[in-house]
Amino acid sequence: MATLLEARALTAGYGGPPVLHGVALAVEEGGVTALLGANGAGKTTILRALCGMIAASGEVRFAGERIDGLPTEAIARRGIAHVPDGRGTFAELTVEENLRLGAITRRDRAAVAADLEGALTLFPRLRERWRQQAGTLSGGEQQMLAIARALLLRPRLLLLDEPSFGLAPLAVREVFGALARLRAEAGVAMLLVEQNAALALDLADRACLLETGRVVLQGEAAALRRDAAVRRAYLGR
Ligand code: ATP
Repeated sequence: MATLLEARALTAGYGGPPVLHGVALAVEEGGVTALLGANGAGKTTILRALCGMIAASGEVRFAGERIDGLPTEAIARRGIAHVPDGRGTFAELTVEENLRLGAITRRDRAAVAADLEGALTLFPRLRERWRQQAGTLSGGEQQMLAIARALLLRPRLLLLDEPSFGLAPLAVREVFGALARLRAEAGVAMLLVEQNAALALDLADRACLLETGRVVLQGEAAALRRDAAVRRAYLGR
């Protein structure tokens, strides 16, 4: 498989001392890479640096081209969609309005309609909630809405920040089931930040373990699942 995203020597922070210290990671075309690590390790910061939300040094290649230093909108246009922690949907707007906003930069109306239909097929609950305000949706539905909205950018890569956060077990299963289908059926690649390591390693084919802004272990997800230290610290066995 070809590499879709490759970051090297990524260093970034928020104005003070760097939070990331020379991170290297990769996502294969159509693959899922999980980013694991304790609270504060810098997982969210990696996603922010990759999508251009915060300044970073280092090299980022997407589909063979350098994207580091590009503005967020340009990175999004190339096919990287960020589903931030907290989901970033507009609470006062309806499901429909949130989804239409996701496609606001697109002019290909027929294709937008088809993508909208695709997103609603993936998340049938959003069709049921079409005219409901996003703020009144359940946590799981809000997460579905955030992912569906990102899909309207037709991404090749989704940056997902803790899609299971705060969700009931059933909702987690629904969201992760949809992510697995999205990958299998549409070939969308993902960089997945997730506190629930078992869940993340089930979906992922590769994983990186982050400690205080450094990748301390990376490899095939199956290998990390067997790793004694990972099992002790992250899988609770
Ligand atoms: P969590 O699971 O708790 O979100 P994380 O691995 O995603 O952890 P980050 O959110 O990337 O970690 O945070 C890494 C470090 O950067 C932390 O020390 C955090 O306090 C700091 N940090 C995060 N966001 C900001 C910000 N907006 N301004 C200043 N410091 C920040």
